[in-house]
Amino acid sequence: MIAVEIAVLGGGPAGAATASLLAAAGREVLLLERAAEPRHKVCGEFLSVETGTSLARLGIDPQALGAASIERLSLWTPLGSGAAALPFRALSLSRRRLDRAILDRAVKKGAAAWRGVSVRSAEPLDTGWRLRCRQGEIIRCRTLVLATGKLAPRTLADGRDGSRVGLKMHLRLAAEAAHALAGQVELFVLPYGYAGLARVEDGVANLCLLLPAGVAAGIGSGWAALRDFLAATPALARRLDGAAALWEKPYAVVCPAGGYLRRGLPGPENPLYPVGDRLAHIPPFTGDGLAIALHSAAAAAEHICRGGSPAAYLAEMRRRIVPALRVAGVVSGLAAHRTGSVMLTGIAKYAPRLLRTIARQTRLSLPSPPSGF
Ligand SMILES: Cc1cc2nc3c(=O)[nH]c(=O)nc-3n(C[C@H](O)[C@H](O)[C@H](O)COP(=O)(O)OP(=O)(O)OC[C@H]3O[C@@H](n4cnc5c(N)ncnc54)[C@H](O)[C@@H]3O)c2cc1C
Repeated sequence: MIAVEIAVLGGGPAGAATASLLAAAGREVLLLERAAEPRHKVCGEFLSVETGTSLARLGIDPQALGAASIERLSLWTPLGSGAAALPFRALSLSRRRLDRAILDRAVKKGAAAWRGVSVRSAEPLDTGWRLRCRQGEIIRCRTLVLATGKLAPRTLADGRDGSRVGLKMHLRLAAEAAHALAGQVELFVLPYGYAGLARVEDGVANLCLLLPAGVAAGIGSGWAALRDFLAATPALARRLDGAAALWEKPYAVVCPAGGYLRRGLPGPENPLYPVGDRLAHIPPFTGDGLAIALHSAAAAAEHICRGGSPAAYLAEMRRRIVPALRVAGVVSGLAAHRTGSVMLTGIAKYAPRLLRTIARQTRLSLPSPPSGF
């Protein structure tokens, strides 16, 4: 058994950023990441201006990593389309490249990172926690940062629903489609969900979808089956015409239907800081999951360093996140119904400024972080 001051479960953006900031502040941190190597994850790979700001504070420049610029949003519904300039300049970068950069940064700042180690359970002790890893290691820690993303070890699960499935495929588009996509993210309202298409680094395009689990299960496996399913959405099918898939089949992940925000935490004897998706889930495409991941990481690190309580951290996060969660919930609900689709089409066609406002309202409103975070 080993003992550490702070253990971080999960080495995605939220966990790696928390570990990086804690290590930079001189705290003893051990990060445990199940995957041996950074890997592709289901994500629209859209980096908002808030995400960019948080990355800059970590010392990471997505453009130096090859991120593509995004200045416009196009919305395609079954009834028409519209486009608007984004209220900020955004970027797009594959998660494999982004996650690797943040985790490498944490190690550079002095965090210990065990990759290829999966935590099976976390049990509260009189003070602190005991972690059991699938590989047999037992770790004791005073403070636990929970950053395992969509899922959690059984003993820390929180009962959120898993009725949606996200899918992701990287593609090389035909020349005309690649040209049309330059500088913009395109959102397509599908009969049962929605899809996003944008360029990431190296001229690759990322196609990402969110569908009810039952619909996703009926598509069948492999790129050909997904492309056939998307043929029912002509605007998207045109973009995909002649595209070459870079993987045999799409990556998939389960997630909740709407927004979710963690309630309640164990008492002060067992400090637990949920960050990223473990703290909150904002509906994808209308939301800013990576900004929440990085911002919650900074807030958790700051509370831990100044000896604050998890309850105070949670209260602060609720104040910051709830407004964006509400707007994102309404917009994703609209996209799921015909009447809502009609409204969104009208907005996209005749009131693109309103589209900009919606894009702004689904972002976090972040105060300046305390110095050092
Ligand atoms: C369809 C879809 C599209 C999205 N598009 C966007 C977008 O365009 N822009 C945006 O900002 N956000 C987007 N999001 C949200 C964004 O992907 C998440 O908010 C973000 O990944 C959260 O980061 P995280 O670090 O909390 O979790 P993750 O990135 O999931 O990282 C969790 C890590 O924990 C590890 N782990 C899990 N269990 C264990 C364990 N037991 N032991 C050890 N390690 C473990 C995993 O291997 C993983 O590396 C999207 C989400 C979905 C579903």
